[in-house]
Amino acid sequence: MRTAEIRRRFLDFFAERGHTVVPSAPLPTPDPTLLFVNAGMVPFKPYLTGEVPAPWPRATSVQKCVRTLDIEEVGRTTRHGSFFQMNGNFSLGDYFKEEAIAFAWELSTASVEGGGYGLDPDRIWVTVHHSDDESRGLWRRIAGLPDERIVARGDEDNFWSMGVPGPCGPCSELYYDRGPALGRAGGPAVDEDRYMEFWNLVFMQYERGKGPGKSGYPILGELPRRNIDTGMGLERMATLLQGVDNLYEIDETRPVLDRAAALAEVRYGADAEADVRLRVVADHVRTALMLLADGTSPGNEGRGYVLRRILRRAVRSMRQLGHTEPVLGDLLAVARDCMAPSYPEVAEAYDRIADRAASEEEAFRSTLRQGTTVLDTAVAKVKEEGSRALPGAQAFLLHDTYGFPIDLTLEMAAEQGVEVDREGFTTLMREQRERARADARARKAGGTDLGVLRPVLDEHGPTDWRALDTLTTDAR
Ligand code: ATP
Ligand code: MG
Ligand code: MG
Ligand code: MG
Repeated sequence: MRTAEIRRRFLDFFAERGHTVVPSAPLPTPDPTLLFVNAGMVPFKPYLTGEVPAPWPRATSVQKCVRTLDIEEVGRTTRHGSFFQMNGNFSLGDYFKEEAIAFAWELSTASVEGGGYGLDPDRIWVTVHHSDDESRGLWRRIAGLPDERIVARGDEDNFWSMGVPGPCGPCSELYYDRGPALGRAGGPAVDEDRYMEFWNLVFMQYERGKGPGKSGYPILGELPRRNIDTGMGLERMATLLQGVDNLYEIDETRPVLDRAAALAEVRYGADAEADVRLRVVADHVRTALMLLADGTSPGNEGRGYVLRRILRRAVRSMRQLGHTEPVLGDLLAVARDCMAPSYPEVAEAYDRIADRAASEEEAFRSTLRQGTTVLDTAVAKVKEEGSRALPGAQAFLLHDTYGFPIDLTLEMAAEQGVEVDREGFTTLMREQRERARADARARKAGGTDLGVLRPVLDEHGPTDWRALDTLTTDAR
C-alpha cells in the first residue's frame, strides 16, 4: 500500500468516526520549548492543557515532524527518520481508553478491502503501564490478546508527561513482529527492530501539580477532562505494508536512495557501511526539502543550524560514497517528486528551495576544499606521533580560519579514528569570546583600540578633518 494511501485511510477512518481533519502545522513551531514540531500533539498542546478551549471534541491529523534527537540513529536502525509523519487521533475531553484502543485495533487489523491496514492480529504485541490494569483488561477484551503479548512497563517507557505541571498519564504502544529474520524472539523488550513500534496511545488521565515530588511533580488526582493523544508513524506503517526492511526503502524515500546509488555508482545492498550512507542521504535530502519548504534557511544557530548540518551530512555522505560533484539539485528534485502529491507546497516553493540548497552546497564545498587538507595533515601528524587526540588548538584553527564547525571536525576526525581535545577547544573558544567582549566594552567606552592604526599614524601624521567639520556644520 502506498504511503499516500495509508495517510488517506487514516484520515478517512477517523473522519467517519466524528473527527475533524486538521492540516499539519509547519515544522518550525512557535512552541518555546522546541525548534521543530516533533510529535502530532504539539499543535494541540493549548487544547490538551486546557489553556485554550478546544474548537472540536475530536480531531485527526497527519503532522510533519522533525526529531533532532533521532538524527544520529538515521540509517543505522530500521525505523528512525529525522523527518517523519505522525498520524494522530485526538480526543479533547471526549472519548477515552476504550474507544482509543478499539479504534487503533480496528484500523490496524481490518482487511485491506474493508478499508483497514490488514495487519496480522497474531503478530501484534502491546505494552501498558504496569499500574494500568484497565488498559490490560481492554486489550484482552477488545483485541482478544493473550496476557503474554501485553507487556507491562514502567514510568520511563510508558508514562507520558510534559515535564511540567499539567496533564500526564499512562501510555500503551502497539508493536508488530516482523519475524525471526530480524532479531530475537521475546517481544519488544528484547528487540525493537524485530518488534517495531508503530503506534503510541497516550491516556491523559492525571494532573501533576507544582513540584518537587520524589519522582518529579506529584500527581494531584484525576483530570476533570481526560484527553487522548495518539501517534502512528506513517513511515513505519508503510515499512510494514510495503514489506521492506526499513523506512528509508518505502515509496516516499526509495527513489532518492536509488538516485544516490546511481550517482555514486554503488549497488545498494552490497556493503553495510555504504548502505548506511545511502540511507542517510535518502533521509536527509527529504528532511532538508521539507524544512526548506517550510521557510527554514541554513544558518549558524538554532533551526538554521540543524538544517545546515543535515544538508552537509547529505553532501558528505555522497563524498564518502565517492561522488564529489554537486548533488543536492539532482537529489532534491527526486525527493520533490516523491513528496509533492501529498505536499503541493514543496513543488510551489521548489525554485527557492533549489536555490538555497545550491548556494549552501557551494559554500560547503569551498569550506571543505580549504579545510580538509589542513585537517588531514593534522590527523596524520597526530597518528605519526602515536597519539589518538587532535589538539584543541587545531580544532580551533579549523573553526576560526577555515569555518569548520566543531562537530564537522569531530565527525571527520572520528572517521579516521582520532578524537578531538574538546576541552582545549572550548577553552580557546571561551578566551576568544572574552577578548571580543573586552573589545566591545572598550569601544563602548569610547576607548577604541587604536593599536592597528599606530603604524599609519606614524607614517602619515594626523589627518586634518576639515571635510568632516564642514559636513557637520551643513547638517546643522
Ligand atoms: P522509538 O521507541 O521507536 O524511538 P518513540 O517511542 O520514541 O519510538 P513516540 O514518541 O511514541 O516514538 O512517537 C509515536 C510514533 O511515531 C511511534 O510509535 C512511531 O511509530 C513514530 N516515530 C517516532 N519516532 C520516529 C522516527 N524518528 N521516525 C519515524 N517514525 C517515528
Ligand atoms: Mg524514540
Ligand atoms: Mg518507544
Ligand atoms: Mg512510543
